[in-house]
Amino acid sequence: MNDRVLVVGAGFAGSVVARELADHGHKVLVIDKREHLAGNAYDCHDEKGVLVHRYGPHIFHTNSERIVRWLSRFTAWRFYEHRVLAEVDSVLYPIPVNRQTINSLYGLNLSEEEAQQFLEKVRIDKPVIQTSEDVVLASVGADMCDKFFRGYTRKQWGLELAQLSAGVASRIPVRTNSDDRYFTDTYQFMPLEGYTRMFERILAHPNITTSFGVSFADIEDKDAFKHIVYTGTVDEYYDYCYGKLPYRSLAFEHQHFEQAKPFQPVGTVNYPNTHEYTRITEFKHLTGQDCAGTSVVYEYPQAQGEPYYPIPRAENEALYKQYKQRAEQETRVSFVGRLAQYRYYNMDQVVATALKTAEHLCEVLK
Ligand code: FAD
Ligand code: UDP
Repeated sequence: MNDRVLVVGAGFAGSVVARELADHGHKVLVIDKREHLAGNAYDCHDEKGVLVHRYGPHIFHTNSERIVRWLSRFTAWRFYEHRVLAEVDSVLYPIPVNRQTINSLYGLNLSEEEAQQFLEKVRIDKPVIQTSEDVVLASVGADMCDKFFRGYTRKQWGLELAQLSAGVASRIPVRTNSDDRYFTDTYQFMPLEGYTRMFERILAHPNITTSFGVSFADIEDKDAFKHIVYTGTVDEYYDYCYGKLPYRSLAFEHQHFEQAKPFQPVGTVNYPNTHEYTRITEFKHLTGQDCAGTSVVYEYPQAQGEPYYPIPRAENEALYKQYKQRAEQETRVSFVGRLAQYRYYNMDQVVATALKTAEHLCEVLK
């Protein structure tokens, strides 16, 4: 019997568990089928020297002081509050919808109180909120739903708002003040030297060995490990025995422009009704990097490809439950993270669930 723990996946889920176990004296082998650590949060310098996020823009935000404290052991931070505009009929509007969005869309000059009254008039009463369509109609009404949400959602998920759980659209608040920040969490920053550097420090521990370009399937003697922490897709782990869990994928198109001026006025511009891509993100806004040119990423949603998003809807949840029940019976395997728990988690939520798992494992693996 090997005295090591095997961690499958070097993203937030796997790396946080690995570090906690290592700090508590356990020997850990971390593998990832990709050639690098940090999972989807991986960043690197492109050929023009601009720090870019290979798998789309990652902005750290949380209300949890504990999580900030934990991560701050491995990185300093750059204060950054993300802003997003949506292009509708060639005009840019703040997203989430706020007072300014309403005023410029309808040529009004409403105060905060008047904006509230405006929303009261246009919103559609929904006694039960079940789907994302219910959420949007009940908050901003039919017109803004069509302008900002329907098309974007159709592109992003390949589904109608009404086919998605309420939780998807609930991620986006509606405001009647002029706050144009995308997130309002207490802590909003970017790792000062990037996510990859932060992960290198998380995994730099004498009890941790890493091996990249290695898939779980490549591990021959799985029984040799005293425990397995699995952060890949849970349906794949069980050989799709109950059927395939749907995941949404994306294709990322990275481009560089040799210009000193910004490509766009804010970090991200959303395109709800035009183009095949959903949004363009310009990295300089996020990182504050001072360089000659500028690099951006376009996101094209795809049905096939790397599994980036669990798709939150009732029938998928029911299928996941079958896997979850089986997973809960395992004593030698823990399932953690966005893919293994089939949850639309943000990074801070993954850190939270990973810390909880690690705490439990430190108890049972003593
Ligand atoms: P992952 O990062 O996916 O890591 C899992 C790792 O396991 C991967 O590296 C994978 O290669 C490896 N793996 C899988 N299967 C196997 C196997 N069989 N063998 C070996 N290795 C395997 N969150 C935020 O908080 N803010 C944001 O702004 C934000 N933006 C996002 C933008 C995009 C486009 C996407 C897709 C996600 C975004 N997120 C954001 C969510 C964030 O990426 C996740 O919450 C977080 O990265 C999940 O960490 P994880 O470890 O669970 O999964
Ligand atoms: N959304 C939308 N229009 C927008 C922004 C978001 O319709 O301009 C909807 C869409 O369904 C999206 C969801 O709200 O998938 C959540 O958006 P968020 O920005 O949180 O998604 P992320 O890219 O972070 O997963």
